Amino acid sequence: MKIKVDTHTHSIASIHAYSTIDELAKSARKAGLAGFVITEHGPALQGAPHRYYFGNLKVLPRRLCGVYLFHGAEINILDTAGNVDLSAAELSALHFCMAGLHEGCFSPHSKEENTEAIINALKNPYVDAISHPANPAFPVDYEAIAGTAAGLGKALEINNSSFRVRQGSAETCPVLAEWCAKKNTPVCIGSDAHYRGDVGKFDRALPVALSAGIKPERIINRTLPAFVEFIEARHSAHNRDSN
Ligand SMILES: [Zn+2]
Ligand SMILES: [Zn+2]
Repeated sequence: MKIKVDTHTHSIASIHAYSTIDELAKSARKAGLAGFVITEHGPALQGAPHRYYFGNLKVLPRRLCGVYLFHGAEINILDTAGNVDLSAAELSALHFCMAGLHEGCFSPHSKEENTEAIINALKNPYVDAISHPANPAFPVDYEAIAGTAAGLGKALEINNSSFRVRQGSAETCPVLAEWCAKKNTPVCIGSDAHYRGDVGKFDRALPVALSAGIKPERIINRTLPAFVEFIEARHSAHNRDSN
């Protein structure tokens, strides 16, 4: 099985990343992807782009170097109430929004508080997925978040970079994946590339997902049509919720 859309990438707009959007697009094409989502960090993280960056994504072509470019963000969960660092109006213009816990924006709390923060962020109608919920720095009740995400039709990410940059992920990611399999939770597999060479790399995350028993059809970014179907369903949910 091959993943055709990378749902998690960063460009030099986040100043701890090292490639341009054009370079990411070229690499996406080389990796055989049909599309990728540019998911810069929300403005509360140090070195993230200014909030205007997200509103201006519309100036980019929708197709770049032969692949589709989706507008996204990786916003920061700021507190246990699940508040985030972009407004509903800003988020509503994006195709795909992940929220995540990041040091510097949310200090690691107890497992209960981290879980509460993620569950409350999932309840934000504009949050489509949670980035790297298996980060060992933020212990979480995986059964609870997998159940909540499944109930809301939102995705939990199995993050390929975690295996390299978030120590302990080789132990936590399979546990998260098993709970996603048990709860039938939608899952996205993201590279979290901060350099063009990592775009479309799912060599650690995908085998973990599949061997945990996650059904391929629950992986929302397995094909371009599957990903488009997921974001369209999420967008009709936004419209329902805001009416
Ligand atoms: Zn992140
Ligand atoms: Zn990221």
